[in-house]
Amino acid sequence: MKKKRIINDSQTDPNKILPMTYLWAREHYKNGIANNWVPEEISMQQDVEQWRSPDFLTERERRLIIWNLGFFSTAESLTANNLVLAVYRHVTNPECRQYLLRQAYEEAVHTDTFIYCCDSLGLDPDEIFNMYNTIPSIAQKDAFVINLTKSIFDPNFSTQGKENIRRFVHDLIGYYVIMEGIFFYAGFAMMLALKRQNKMVGIGEQFEYIMRDESIHLAFGCDLINTIVKENPEVWTEDFQNEIVELIKKAVILEKKYAYDACPEGLLGINAQQFSDYVEYIADRRLERIDLPKVYYKENPFPWMSQSTDLNKEKNFFETRVTEYQSAGSLEWE
Ligand code: FE
Ligand code: MN
Repeated sequence: MKKKRIINDSQTDPNKILPMTYLWAREHYKNGIANNWVPEEISMQQDVEQWRSPDFLTERERRLIIWNLGFFSTAESLTANNLVLAVYRHVTNPECRQYLLRQAYEEAVHTDTFIYCCDSLGLDPDEIFNMYNTIPSIAQKDAFVINLTKSIFDPNFSTQGKENIRRFVHDLIGYYVIMEGIFFYAGFAMMLALKRQNKMVGIGEQFEYIMRDESIHLAFGCDLINTIVKENPEVWTEDFQNEIVELIKKAVILEKKYAYDACPEGLLGINAQQFSDYVEYIADRRLERIDLPKVYYKENPFPWMSQSTDLNKEKNFFETRVTEYQSAGSLEWE
C-alpha cells in the first residue's frame, strides 16, 4: 500500500480518522482541549473600575489597550475566515481537519472575548472593530496578510502540482507563521506587561488564554508546513527559502512599526526598543521552527513571556480548569 500523504492523497477518506498517521495533529487537539476557556469565566470587575477611574491609567496606557483590542478584534475573524474558507478545503487529512475544527472554535472564542471586553468596558464597538481601517499600522499588517494568503482563497486554486504546493506552503506560512506567530506577539507582550503591573488584569488574563491557544495554532501550523515540505521536498528550493525569509523580514518591520505606534514611549520599566527586540527574537524562533536560519540573534528581553505560553509549566493551572469544567457539567439547563 502507498504511504499516506498529508495533501493530495487520493487514498485518504476524510471521514475515516482511524488509524491516524499524523499523531502530532492529535496531540495539538488534546492540548487545545486542555486550555478550554470562555471569556465570561474571567471577572472584569477590577478592570471596569480601573478603566473608569480618571487617573489610574495614563493616556498612553489607555491608547495601547484600545489599539490592541482594535487589532485583535478583526485579526481573529480574519484568521477564522482563512481557516474555514481556505485551509480546511485543501487539508483533507482527517486528523488535521479534526484539529482545524477545534482551532475554528477557539477563534470564535477569541472574537467573543473582544465582544465581552467592549461590552464590559463600555467601549465604542464601531471604533474598536473599525480600527483595521482607520489606524495605518493595523491596516498595513492586515493588508500584508490578506495579500500573502491570496492564492488559497481563489476558488479555482488546487494544491496539485509543484507550483501550487509551493503556493500553498507560502500562504500557510503567511497565515500561521506571520499572522499568528509574529503579528500577534507585540500585542501579547504589551497586554501581559500591563497585567504584570496589576493593570487591567482581567483583559491580561484573557490575552494569556488567547496566547496559549495561539501558541498551539502556531505549533500545528508549523507541523503542517514542515510535513508538506518533507513529503514534497522539491518545493523547498533555495530561492523559495530566501523568498520566505524576506517575507518574514518584511513582517518584522511592520510588527515593529506597530509596536512603536501603539506604545511609543514604552511602559513603566520597559522601553519601546524592548518590544521591538522581542519581535525580532520571536521571528528567529519562528524561522528555526520551519528549518530556516536565524536572522536577528536577539536575546529574549521578556523571559516572563515564555512562562506564560509554556504549557508544561502550567500543570496546576490546568488542574484548576479541569475541576471547574467538571462542576460546570452539573449545571441545570432550562
Ligand atoms: Fe485567535
Ligand atoms: Mn489562532
